[in-house]
Amino acid sequence: MKIGFFGGSFDPPHRGHIALARLAMERLGLDRVLFAPVGIQPLKRDRAQAGYADRVAMTRLAIEHVPGFEVSPVDAPRADGRPNYTVDTLRSLRATLAHDDQIFFLMGADSFLGIDKWYRAADLLISCDFAVAARPGFDLGRLTGALPGAISVASCDAEQSDVLVLCLRSGSRGESRLYLLPDLDEEVSASSVRAMLHHGADAVRVLDPAVGGWIRKHGLYREKKD
Ligand code: ATP
Repeated sequence: MKIGFFGGSFDPPHRGHIALARLAMERLGLDRVLFAPVGIQPLKRDRAQAGYADRVAMTRLAIEHVPGFEVSPVDAPRADGRPNYTVDTLRSLRATLAHDDQIFFLMGADSFLGIDKWYRAADLLISCDFAVAARPGFDLGRLTGALPGAISVASCDAEQSDVLVLCLRSGSRGESRLYLLPDLDEEVSASSVRAMLHHGADAVRVLDPAVGGWIRKHGLYREKKD
């Protein structure tokens, strides 16, 4: 099976997340996409605003009508309270899959442009294939410049004509593929959604109605009045 792994804060899940996962599923022929809300994101100093259980519930509501989309607990908060490092998460995920399942790590261009700061980035980059989608304001053309020095890039033969693909290599340690999805154009972020909700605006254009309902019912992202 071809499995998409889509990690993130999903604080809250919005239209951009769904559009990215749909595009990757269609272009790469994925059988399943696993949305994995992260317990503690190592590089986001301002921790998630909604708790893990709310983010899981909202993500479930945002995807439940899409066949093949699922919520995965693989990146749940750790028992020891440490941040969730993606190399560890992928190792745990692989242990739950069949031997010949292929993992595609889905992300937006903004995340990939910071990949060299991730823990054990070179090991991560050859541990599975990657699918990186365009995001307004972030240049997909700069992706290869963002790779750690231990990774070299070569062209690969594309199996499909509508997907751009590069081969990533790390010496003799291995090889993976980097698929580029340039035709996503979703001008939305979770931080802009939170800012709207904080000031009492609704965000109906960018949130699933069921997610909006959960946020209202549980009073999330509202300005705290002491
Ligand atoms: P925040 O604004 O709080 O930083 P976010 O909107 O980037 O949040 P995350 O849950 O942190 O959402 O993102 C999870 C993944 O989804 C990341 O890889 C990110 O690049 C990608 N992503 C989120 N929104 C978009 C978008 N509008 N276009 C392309 N990729 C996106």
